[in-house]
Order: sequence, then C-alpha cells, then structure tokens
Amino acid sequence: MSPRGPPGVVGPAGPRAVSTTDSTAAWVPGGCRRVDPKSSGSRSSICFRAFSEPGPSRLGSILENQPLPPLQDPTMPAPQCASCNKARAALRRPRSGQALCGACFCVAFEAEVLHTVVAGRLLPPGAVVAVGASGGKDSTVLAHVLRELAPRLDISLHLVAVDEGIGGYRDAALAAVRRQAARWELPLTVVAYADLFGGWTMDAVARSTAGSGRSRACCTFCGVLRRRALEEGARLVGATHVVTGHNADDMAETVLMNFLRGDAGRLARGGGLGSPGEGGALPRCRPLQLASQKEVVLYAHFRRLDYFSEECVYAPEAFRGHARDLLKMLEAARPSAVLDLVHSAERLALAPAARPPPPGACSRCGALASRALCQACALLDGLNRGRPRLAIGKGRRGLDEEGPPREPQPSRPPTSQPVPDF
Ligand code: SF4
Ligand code: ZN
Repeated sequence: MSPRGPPGVVGPAGPRAVSTTDSTAAWVPGGCRRVDPKSSGSRSSICFRAFSEPGPSRLGSILENQPLPPLQDPTMPAPQCASCNKARAALRRPRSGQALCGACFCVAFEAEVLHTVVAGRLLPPGAVVAVGASGGKDSTVLAHVLRELAPRLDISLHLVAVDEGIGGYRDAALAAVRRQAARWELPLTVVAYADLFGGWTMDAVARSTAGSGRSRACCTFCGVLRRRALEEGARLVGATHVVTGHNADDMAETVLMNFLRGDAGRLARGGGLGSPGEGGALPRCRPLQLASQKEVVLYAHFRRLDYFSEECVYAPEAFRGHARDLLKMLEAARPSAVLDLVHSAERLALAPAARPPPPGACSRCGALASRALCQACALLDGLNRGRPRLAIGKGRRGLDEEGPPREPQPSRPPTSQPVPDF
C-alpha cells in the first residue's frame, strides 16, 4: 500500500505514484521511458514525447523508478511553449505536433471538450448531468473538465458510480470516486448491481458463466448491466442527461470490435457523440470521444488528479484486449488511425437491406429492445434460469420462447447454478 492510497492510485503529482496501465512516454533526465512496462517496443509510445521541465521534472518524477532502458538520446532541449512563449514545453501533442507547457495544454484540452459539447449540442443550458464515475482516469478527467466548464455551460453535475460487485477491485475504485466527490464538492450516488439486479454481482455472474474454466463473457454481461445501472442511478438523482468518459481510443476499439464481429446494428448506431434518448431513455453523450487516451492521461497528470488505475480482474479475458492490441499496431503505422476509425463510424451508412429493424419496447421493463426482451432483461433471465449462455447470441430466441424465468434469488450461492459451457 502506497502512503498516498491503494496500489495504482495516482496521487496528486506524487513522486512515486505511477499509473501502471496507461501507456505514454516522456523525456526525463536519464532517458525517454515508458510508463507502461507492458508496452515495450511500441513505436506509438515513442512518438508521443514530453519534455522535461526546468527544475524537477514532474513527468520525470513519476517515471524515475521504471526499470526500463532509454529509448533514444534524451539530450534534445525542450523548446518554448508554442502558446504562451514563456514556459518551457512539457509535451508535444500527438495530433498536432505542437509543443506546449502543462498549463497551456490543459487550457487547450478544456477548450476542445467545450467545443465538442457546444458544437454537438450535447448538454443544453440548465441540464442536470449525471457523470458516470468509475474512479478511473477517463471519468475522473471528464468530471474535472465538466466541473471547470459547468458555469459556462450552465449545467449542474451529479456523480453516479456503479458498484458492480467485483471483490478486490471496485471497492478501491469507489474510494477514489468518494475522494473526488469530497474534494470537488460534487454530490455522489452509488448504485449497486446487487440491489438493482436481484442479488447478482459481477463476481456471482463470473462464477455462473465460467463453467470449469475462466469466464470470457463477464464484460458482455457487465457492459449491458452497467448501462442499465447508470440509467437507473441517473433517474434516481433527477438527471436530464448522462455523460460517460469514453475517449477516442475506447471508441476506436469499439468500432474495431463491431467490425470483427460483423455487428452491423451496433456499427450503424455507435458512431455519434451520443444518443438522443430514444424510447424514454435519458440522452447520453461522450464529451471526451475526440480526445486521445494519451492526452487524457497527461491532462490528469498536469491537473494532479487522483484516480484509480488498476485493471479489473476480468479485463484480461475480454475480447476488447484483442481490438486494443490491433489498434496499437495500426496506430504505430498510422498515427491518425484512432481518430480515423472514430470518424469512419460517424459516417458509416448501411444499405437499407442491412439496417436492423427499428427497436421496439422490452415486454418486461419497457426499455428499447430489438427482441421481446431488452439485453439487460434477457441476460438476467438467462442468469436466473442458470443458463446464461442462452442469453447471448443465438440463444436469446430460445429464452423468449421458454416461458417465464425462475424468481430471482437474492443471495444465491452461484455454485448451485447449473454450469453453462462458455
Ligand atoms: Fe465490467 Fe469487464 Fe469492465 Fe470488469 S473489465 S468492470 S467486468 S466491463
Ligand atoms: Zn427489459
């Protein structure tokens, strides 16, 4: 345990607090080094350079303990900031190549998010905005930036965190959210899967779906249930809009995954900056959708934000990891690949014959659904029947035809469920 908090929490510019999952690179005394030990050899991490600042290097200070070899000659002097022409540049922006000091970079980053929100008409004046807060870097940066912009946008913010029930992971992340809420004086509401979904936690879902091995379906369930939980939490606090912290890299990964799965329906509706709130759902948007992950990390660094950066215990099994690896390779060959993919999805048009039918209403909860049951109700149905596999893909028709599910069992011992074969 670090003196500043749980492992992985990046404290306010703490000299030994290191984000272990974010990949970036910096000019530091003694060499250009990567933050992420797992990204050795990645050209994309080399091309994003940050310069050491006069005096003790802030980026250098969080990197100095990384036992990685220098990537190249670190003696290149840091130029003047291209914006203020006063301070030394601390980083070179990957998209524009502009060398900026930390303060000017943060101002530019906030202005770009403001432009995304205003140009996209995402959050009208007077909106009560539920910010999906996970404690991770993206939602932390989103909440901080929106808090800075709230007076100009004339919006009010409410943090909504979801407790998925993942032992050894979510508790520490929620602690980071609570610290943020206290420091920024923002109201916080936590909603839990166990309360919303008849006792199911993600740990219970994982045991139910794992069979004799490790579950590869956790993120499929978790993604659907978290979307529902966030919607419930937002309604609970009287929000008019929901925002999430997905950045450009997240969106590009999603586009790639949808292509790899041949999921034309998701490709057709997943490209925009948000959804207008069809079928009674609250309007949702992603103000960081055009911001790269690297810049999100640097914004958190220069604003000295406190966030949680451990990886979820179920993440290694997720299909998204393959899309992420593929995207890193693409980005190494073509640095604009991330944003190109995001914009491709925005412009994608399906031939009429390939378009999915307009969604109807879930026969159980009334949410938007392309079948008799919405995704969340279908997944819960499968879990409650002890046949979670049926709730994914082809099996859903079978579920719809099989009659009512068993009653939810709030404190069910997951091992007593019939074991599906994933
Ligand atoms: Fe849920 Fe998967 Fe994310 Fe873990 S990695 S919180 S299981 S979506
Ligand atoms: Zn439903």
